[in-house]
Amino acid sequence: MSNEKKETKHKLRLATLVTQAGRAPFDHFGFVNPPIYRGSTVLFPTVAALEGLRQPYTYGTKGTPTTRALEQAWSEIAGAVDTVLTPSGLAAIGLALLTATHAGAHALIADSAYQPTRIFCDGLLKRFGVNVEYYDPLIGGGVATLMRPETTAVLVESPGSQSMEVQDVPAIAAAAHAHGACVIADNTWATPLLFPPHERGCDLAIEAGTKYLAGHADLLIGLVSANAKWAKRLRATFNAFGMGSSPDDASLALRGLRTMALRLREQERAALDIAQWLQDRPEVSRVLHPALPTHPGHELWKRDFNGASGVFSVILKDVSKKAVAAVVDGLELFGIGFSWGGYESLVLPFDCASYRTATRWAPEGPALRFSIGLEDVADLKSDLAAGLGRLKVS
Ligand SMILES: *Cc1c(COP(=O)(O)O)cnc(C)c1O
Repeated sequence: MSNEKKETKHKLRLATLVTQAGRAPFDHFGFVNPPIYRGSTVLFPTVAALEGLRQPYTYGTKGTPTTRALEQAWSEIAGAVDTVLTPSGLAAIGLALLTATHAGAHALIADSAYQPTRIFCDGLLKRFGVNVEYYDPLIGGGVATLMRPETTAVLVESPGSQSMEVQDVPAIAAAAHAHGACVIADNTWATPLLFPPHERGCDLAIEAGTKYLAGHADLLIGLVSANAKWAKRLRATFNAFGMGSSPDDASLALRGLRTMALRLREQERAALDIAQWLQDRPEVSRVLHPALPTHPGHELWKRDFNGASGVFSVILKDVSKKAVAAVVDGLELFGIGFSWGGYESLVLPFDCASYRTATRWAPEGPALRFSIGLEDVADLKSDLAAGLGRLKVS
């Protein structure tokens, strides 16, 4: 952590790395955390320095010591060559897709991708001449059959948003790379702590830092990390946008980073406990959680992931929408809202049927997505038991 100790003798484990990465206290009078640098203009001492642009910081949009500390920490944690920050996770998705496509290109997008990703693809990307095609997330290496000479990007998101399909990312990456395409992963659910994206073959990895990195539902931030092949192109696209992120948000995200491993471990434990308990409830038809052996993606998850986060879904028995509302509206500890990954538990009724195009979403009953927070599991179960009791399923 001191500047001299930067070359560590051992490869640090990730839970240690989140406490160490991106810090250089003796650059800042020994203060443990990097300070918040606010600034647009950066002064050059001489005309020669200005012409060379060789100082570490040149203008606010290109980064400050605060934002760079987060970028560097994330690169270390993700096993990436470079990372850029964006004002939201969705902005990170747009930036990654624009880095890997051009007019006339063909992009393959997992049908289970985050819905706003589809809105970006179907609106903006198509308008700029990119041919967007959705594919079955369970296609695996079969994605080779969809590759065209002009395919430049394949987007994976595993597990899929809401529906939780686990993708064979290494097989998809191998097929995409055989055709020279860039593999983009939306790795928000797992974070690099639970799925090392670049080690698994992804070129660009997106994290909605809004979720587990921030961890407290109090900021929006996105990150795109890149391997050696794509780092330059990513940085150039980022610079073209002037998409500077706030140093205050970067500082809050760095603070979140220091407890991220701890929070994820606890949320994994609590979510799995609740998922197992829900599986045995008479009101529940299926629990979609990849760490459950009953999940169709369980074997792939075991092979490729180092754990599970706190988000999973549930398919209820066939009951009315009104009955589901009665369950959800009466919950005291679960908020109804978008986003997830904070310390507070959330629940969201969802239905993917209206926007999936390559696959059919037709479960046997209504679906709920849960994000488990840091409350006591016994309190959460009591709340859910009272809620499910309102369904009166025998
Ligand atoms: C929330 C989310 C995003 C977007 O993050 P924002 O910061 O809310 O824009 C992207 N991908 C996934 C999988 C998400 O769940």
